[in-house]
Parts: sequence; C-alpha cells; structure tokens
Amino acid sequence: MAPTVIVIGLGGMGSAAAASLAQRGCRVIGVERYWPTHDRGSSHGESRVIRLAYFSDPAHVPFAQEAYPLWQRLERDSGTELVTPCDAVIVGPEGGEEVTASTTVADQLGQPYELLTPSEVTKRWSTLTPPPGTLTFLDHSQGVIRPEAAVSANLALAARNGAELHFDTAVESWSAGDSGVTVTTSAGEFTADHLVITPGAWASDILAAPGIPMEIGRLVQVWVRPAADLSLFAVDRHPRFALEDEAGRVASGFALLPGHSLVKVAFIKGPDASTPTTPDTFRREASAAEVESVIDYMGRLIPSLRGQEAERARGCIYAKTPDDNFVIGPHPEHENVTIGAAFSVHGFKFVPVVGEILADLALDGRSDRDINVFSPLRFQDTASSASAQ
Ligand SMILES: Cc1cc2nc3c(=O)[nH]c(=O)nc-3n(C[C@H](O)[C@H](O)[C@H](O)COP(=O)(O)OP(=O)(O)OC[C@H]3O[C@@H](n4cnc5c(N)ncnc54)[C@H](O)[C@@H]3O)c2cc1C
Repeated sequence: MAPTVIVIGLGGMGSAAAASLAQRGCRVIGVERYWPTHDRGSSHGESRVIRLAYFSDPAHVPFAQEAYPLWQRLERDSGTELVTPCDAVIVGPEGGEEVTASTTVADQLGQPYELLTPSEVTKRWSTLTPPPGTLTFLDHSQGVIRPEAAVSANLALAARNGAELHFDTAVESWSAGDSGVTVTTSAGEFTADHLVITPGAWASDILAAPGIPMEIGRLVQVWVRPAADLSLFAVDRHPRFALEDEAGRVASGFALLPGHSLVKVAFIKGPDASTPTTPDTFRREASAAEVESVIDYMGRLIPSLRGQEAERARGCIYAKTPDDNFVIGPHPEHENVTIGAAFSVHGFKFVPVVGEILADLALDGRSDRDINVFSPLRFQDTASSASAQ
C-alpha cells in the first residue's frame, strides 16, 4: 500500500513536496497554520528571481539548472504561467562583489553576458542612469517567478492527486516512533508513516532539532510607481535591476509584469537589508524611514523613482543558517521525518527541485542528487571537528 505522508507547512517548499508526493501516489495530509498563499511567511510579494549566474554556493548551480525545466513542467501541469523570462542588469563598482561574482560564474558556465558602461546602459534603457565609474553586468537568462501563483499551482496539483489539505490548522507538536508519526494540531491528531516538515521562519518552534542553528530575519519589500511612462518598465522591454554601492549595500528591483503598475524594490545586502526578528515579534508594516531609504537609494539608478511615495510596503520573514545554506535531509533523531528548512532569501527558485528531493527522501530515504551540502548534520560535524582541533 502507498505510504501516508504528512507535510507540515504548505508554503513554497511544503506545497511542492505535497504535489510531488501526491503525484507519486502517496496519501498526503498537508497541514498549514494560515490560508493558501498567505502573506505571513516567506513566499509572498509577487516576484522572485531565478538565475543561473548565481553565486551563493557553486553547489547550487546544478539545482538552478534543473529548476528551469521543472518550472516549465509545473507550468504545463497547472496551465499557469509562473516564470517570465527577463534580462537583468547588475550595476556595481568595478571590483565590487556583485559584478565580479556574476561574471566569474557566467564564465564558468559558459553563459553569455555583456559588460556595459553607464552611457551604454542609458542608451539602451532611458530609465536607467548607472552612477559614474560603475560597471553593468547584463544577464539574458534570468526570470521572474510569481510566488503566490507557484504555491497555488502546487496546492492545486496536490489536491487534484488526492492530497487532503488542512488550512487554518496549527501544528502544536509531533512525535515519531517505529510505528509511524503522530501530529497534534488545533484540529485534532493525524497519523502517518512519514513526516515532512517545511516550517519556513517557524523552524525553531516546530523542527525539534536543537543542533541546527537558525537565524530569523526580516526584509522589506516596497512598491512604488515611477514618475515616467510605465510602458518603458514592462518586463518584456525593461530588465530586472540591482545596484551595489561602494559600501557593499545592494538593493534590487523588478520590472512590471503584465497588468502591474508598481515597481518592487528592496535592500537585499548590507546594514539596511535585514533585521533579526522572531515569528512572535515580526513587524509586517514597514517604517517611513525603511521605505524612504530604499526608494532614495534606487533613485541613484532610476531617477524617475526619486521623491516618489511608496504605494505599498511589507516586511517578509525568512529563516537561514549561519552558513546561509539550506537544510534538507533526514531529521537528525528520526529517520521517518524529513526536514526542508532555512531557504533564506535565495531559495524560491529551487521550489520544484526541493519538492522532488523531499519526496525522494520521504519515500526512499535517499536522493540521487548530491545534497550533502544541505545535510542537517553538518553543524554537528563542524562542532566536533572544531573541538577536536
Ligand atoms: C523578501 C524576500 C525576497 C526573496 N527573494 C528571492 C528571490 O528573488 N529568489 C529566490 O530564489 N528566493 C528568494 N527569497 C527566498 C524564498 O522566498 C524563500 O526561501 C522561500 O519562500 C521559503 O519557502 P518556505 O516554504 O521555506 O517558507 P514559507 O513559504 O514561509 O512556508 C512555511 C510554511 O509553514 C507554515 N507553518 C509553520 N509552522 C507551522 C505550524 N506549527 N503549523 C502549521 N503550519 C506551519 C507557515 O505558515 C508557512 O506557510 C526571498 C525571500 C524573501 C523574504
């Protein structure tokens, strides 16, 4: 008989795991504290980047390469456009981390790109005026993923393949033993053969794996209308953009998807980017200072943003480990529990790959992909080797 698997947390990763498991014929019980595609976790805000010249960890490159066709498969299965291909410009000081690292990875992958001077950039896009002395990396292989639509597509796929999805249902505790797993929720108890936990920012509350260090952070996403002809910002003619300054601060933003009229901008690196938080103290509202500082900063690259008021701004919570790598693997203490956590601020592009890996681990206890870099045990290894030296 096909096994029963409970998935705790139906955000980006949990919805993908539920879809993959249900497609493989498992009985799936999904449990989510909030409503489908809610904005309390990490998978909201209309846009996420996918790119190959991605330098968080070289080990991620094969997963990024695999992600593109898996997103296309999800688009076909769901009949929804989820990823819009786009160009991207990464602007920074010569020798700065963003342009240098993007160039290095693109060279390693043999991926075409262009390096442009400020005037060459302005000649192509009149909306953009890179600061003097900067260099611009132009990447033709990026894409904008719609996170809410992606979660929706996976939930629909899971349900279509028989998954029972319980929303507005908080998991209070779980236990695992030789005979299976039991999950206690606000709506009663569920039992299964295997448990997958994809808790996002609530990792410390529900993973029950004290050996895995988690840091919880908050980024602010701001939506603003440029004082310019909006058609110039349409995603089919305007690149996604990022600006690094001499101090290493980086903010990035998205062009307009069809039907949208607000450009989204956010600090993603540097002291203005992330603040520590917890799920209990997390502030969804953004302060006037937070909003002004990112619009002001992006105004250096896009003059039509200068002095514009934000139309909307939202905090977004996320979890990461100190090494900023994901945690994917068997729970350190229970082989019938699989963890998918700490996807930080760069994990969304991998959603369909992570869904497949979590399903492999839940059903076979192993994955054909090389996932050692994500091992939940790596922190124990570090601790013991550090004390042995
Ligand atoms: C501002 C921002 C920008 C980002 N930009 C990018 C980008 O451009 N490209 C990219 O690749 N990645 C990006 N990311 C990262 C990406 O969005 C996240 O890594 C991803 O969304 C994490 O998904 P998740 O499933 O781990 O978390 P979530 O989607 O938050 O899902 C976790 C779920 O678990 C549920 N849950 C937790 N505890 C319980 C419980 N006790 N009972 C029931 N349910 C529970 C929560 O309610 C939630 O729905 C960005 C992240 C942020 C915050």
